[in-house]
Amino acid sequence: MGLLDGKRAVVTGAARGIGYEIARVLGQAGAAVVIGDIDESAADDAVKRLAALDVEAVSRRCDVTDEADMAALVALCTDGFGPLDVMVNNAGITRDATLRKMAIADFRAVLDVHLTGAWNGTRSAAEVMREHGGGSIVNISSIAGKVGNFGQTNYSAAKAGLVGLTKASAKELARSGVRVNAVQPGLIRTAMTEAMPKAAWDAKLAEIPMARAGEPAEVAEVVLFLASEMASYVTGAVLEVTGGRYM
Ligand code: NDP
Repeated sequence: MGLLDGKRAVVTGAARGIGYEIARVLGQAGAAVVIGDIDESAADDAVKRLAALDVEAVSRRCDVTDEADMAALVALCTDGFGPLDVMVNNAGITRDATLRKMAIADFRAVLDVHLTGAWNGTRSAAEVMREHGGGSIVNISSIAGKVGNFGQTNYSAAKAGLVGLTKASAKELARSGVRVNAVQPGLIRTAMTEAMPKAAWDAKLAEIPMARAGEPAEVAEVVLFLASEMASYVTGAVLEVTGGRYM
């Protein structure tokens, strides 16, 4: 028996990185998984990799900032598998620069993908979950939203905004049986962080009590907990997955 047997999940930005691992872990816990990603061919490839692990998955190109794209992604789940039980708002980008050098377009782009994207996903998922009698929404924030990162005013603002979005929607949706929670990963080994200069990586590593970066699967396991009935009385919570950094 898997924790999500018979359930259906949508994961955004799941063509690779943490999102892919979330799709894999939810799928191996029994959920049918719908992957939405802006990179259509990478998303198709992710579906093939999941099929090789016996995970039932489909994908669709989806720009999370686009309302019609998000509605179509949720519809792909409801039409193909049945009503949505789990929504994971994971898609993200970075456009790092100091305040002095950051263009307003880079501030807006990061806010739009992370924050408007998660709002859009929450709204579309809530439509279905309300009618279906419940569900679980998980937003992937970041420890940058708690402490702020140098060179990431856009990203830190977006990730802090996700905490407000999580708590406000948790309050609105609780009466409909929909739980909304957030995860704040610290330094996790993905393409996004491996692009970092070595000195920056080493400086971050030095701040981690557990003295190592996290693996994408270690974030995915926490998402599985929040998605499952094991977290049936948890809503509006923000779980840090940081190896103790900035506790
Ligand atoms: P990746 O860049 O590896 O994966 C993000 C995925 O989202 C990519 O496939 C990307 O496509 C896709 N994406 C980007 N924009 C959109 C969009 N508008 N609509 C749909 N999909 C989109 O990132 P990670 O796996 O590292 O990060 C996943 C999440 O975890 C992000 O929200 C990130 O902020 C968060 N996080 C990551 C940490 C880390 O250490 N890695 C730490 C804390 C939080 P494309 O590649 O084409 O841009």
